[in-house]
Amino acid sequence: MSSSAQRTYELDRAHVFHSWSAQSLLDPMVVERAEGSYFWDGDGNRYLDFSSQLVNTNIGHQHPVVVAAIQEQAARLCTIAPSYANDARGEAARLITELTPAGLSKVFFTNGGADAIEHAVRMARLHTGRPKVLSQYRSYHGGTQTAVNLTGDPRRWPSDNGTAGVVHFFGPFLYRSEFGATTEEEECALALRHLERVVEMEGPSTIAAIVLETVPGTAGIMPPPPGFLAGVRELCDRHGILYIADEVMAGFGRTGAWFALDHYGVTPDLITFAKGVNSGYVPLGGVVIAEHVAETFATRAYPGGLTYSGHPLATAAAVATINVMRNERIVENAATIGADVLGPGLRELAERHPSVGDVRGLGVFWALELVRDRGTKEPLAPYGSSSPEMNEVLAACKRGGLVAFANFNRIHVVPPCTVSETEAKAGLAILDEALTLADRHTV
Ligand code: PLP
Repeated sequence: MSSSAQRTYELDRAHVFHSWSAQSLLDPMVVERAEGSYFWDGDGNRYLDFSSQLVNTNIGHQHPVVVAAIQEQAARLCTIAPSYANDARGEAARLITELTPAGLSKVFFTNGGADAIEHAVRMARLHTGRPKVLSQYRSYHGGTQTAVNLTGDPRRWPSDNGTAGVVHFFGPFLYRSEFGATTEEEECALALRHLERVVEMEGPSTIAAIVLETVPGTAGIMPPPPGFLAGVRELCDRHGILYIADEVMAGFGRTGAWFALDHYGVTPDLITFAKGVNSGYVPLGGVVIAEHVAETFATRAYPGGLTYSGHPLATAAAVATINVMRNERIVENAATIGADVLGPGLRELAERHPSVGDVRGLGVFWALELVRDRGTKEPLAPYGSSSPEMNEVLAACKRGGLVAFANFNRIHVVPPCTVSETEAKAGLAILDEALTLADRHTV
């Protein structure tokens, strides 16, 4: 390791407190540079980034047009309070609302995804005058208080103080159906029936919103069956409940469409976004608001704000990112790579590797579910935890020059939307090799 990389490592271990981790057990990789689909560690080793970091670098690393736009904005106006009108902020809001369904025409900017969820829920509660919010067990909505309580995965448990007014339900997930379904149609009908019963039992007049990741991401990349989201929309309409679509991970090209919602033709009342809006080059998130909700705050003040709401550097990066994605047909690339390379390639790996229990996804948003036994579907790591076997597979990927996103017994194949066919195939080849280690643990 170079002396500067060594110094970076030592500073980190001495002073940086990391997310979601036991601090003394960490051994973080030093990253010195990144470009396109790759990044380099402190020893100069190159890695294919099939994690897109935390599934946010949708345009890849260091896109020169976006870097230049941030530099130009920094030279002109680094920051200005949210109460002023600013060109980058206004143009970012216009471009974002151009991409969302008709009727959603206003944007409240935040610093990231969790605070977007906090504000969407606050808006829904104030708009409806109701306290409760429903979300799925298999979900992740962020690390702040309301967002982590809405989260279904085990990261909720240490912070769940039971006061957030959150009720969880099971969403559709045929591979591990909670309802004993055997077809997508049946899973859809039974999941909707279950949700309807939860709404009835909780009392529809107490429920402000149902919050749903359009395609749950960290929880397992589970595209909903056709008709499920339309059914949720109808249920919400019947009871005056708002539908909040969390597009923080699935939005901005990840699924091969601008928003994952575009695949399902539904219109929510509020949409949360972050990550891909500017590929995380500068922190940014927000809520896109339907006119009827925005109207609630037309003459009554909205009780919420942030010092950096609509920060010029972040919104200038969003303007440049959206324009680059349009000009370079990056969303179309994600769709093509998913349909022609990743989808068929991963299904082919599943045919040859008994450790692969399920392959799901679309665009550049795929999950492999690793199991010990395809018959029982026993996972290679328990729910909420890792295992030496999973760590072995991930270490083999890394030795081969590939970093993927892992959660429990799953490997998520989530490269940038700009990934080339050659890069996608190179990543699949490394994964192929690593999966032979998982196969040794199957029955
Ligand atoms: N919602 C979803 C669907 C996410 O995937 C995430 C982060 O992974 C969040 C919300 C929280 O976003 P942030 O980490 O920017 O607060």
